[in-house]
Amino acid sequence: MRHLVSAVIAAAGKGERAGQNLPKQYAEAAGGPLVRHTLRAFEDSLKIYEIIVVAAAEHMDRMRGITAGFGKVKDVVEGGSDRFGSVYEGLKKTDPACGVILIHDGARPFVNESDIARVIEGVLKYGACAQGVAPAETVKILGTGDTPAQTLDRERIRLVQTPQGFMREIIMNAYGRALAQGLRATDDTTLAERAGHPVHLAEGRYENLKVTTKEDVLAADLLLRLRGSGGS
Ligand code: C5P
Repeated sequence: MRHLVSAVIAAAGKGERAGQNLPKQYAEAAGGPLVRHTLRAFEDSLKIYEIIVVAAAEHMDRMRGITAGFGKVKDVVEGGSDRFGSVYEGLKKTDPACGVILIHDGARPFVNESDIARVIEGVLKYGACAQGVAPAETVKILGTGDTPAQTLDRERIRLVQTPQGFMREIIMNAYGRALAQGLRATDDTTLAERAGHPVHLAEGRYENLKVTTKEDVLAADLLLRLRGSGGS
């Protein structure tokens, strides 16, 4: 069965770690705001039916301006005080005809067609799918103070990225349960797992980084220029 796919782009964060006046998703990189590069990948994907963008109340006009040229953007909605609240606002606006929902961070402008295709394929096979990469550094868990209590096996660790994709009933059920239990999470796979839905983790790409610091903004500008992406 063929499913329509909706993409919820979470871009309502404050992005304080990037040390700029504007949230990081609006930082200029390779000729346009970062979030425009993110949107371009979803707009250009033949697999995506609609895009719902979540923006902070104070940036609604800015975001409406950025999304104006994107025909698949069905709605720009106001976000919540954390990512969970923002994604929930976006989910509520998705077209019920869309059986598959992808959720993606506005601050990940390197997402490409292969990421989108891989996650959708995983959703259709397993019900829920995200991408992860092994960490480049050794990961330790701190004990008391700064002294590590445990060193984790790098081979068994994955840093989880977005897009994260779900069959509609799975993600709606996961959010419904989290709300009922008063629990929130920083990512959607965690919510699905808590609701009892195992998540398939496909191999991600290092390049699909979440722009977080001001160094990331500089790196994103360079990488997007090298890729020749105008984002417009
Ligand atoms: O803060 P963090 O980097 O984890 O945010 C991940 C994504 O979630 C970003 O794209 C950010 O804009 C979004 N977010 C949101 N609403 C919030 C907080 C974060 O849409 N209240």
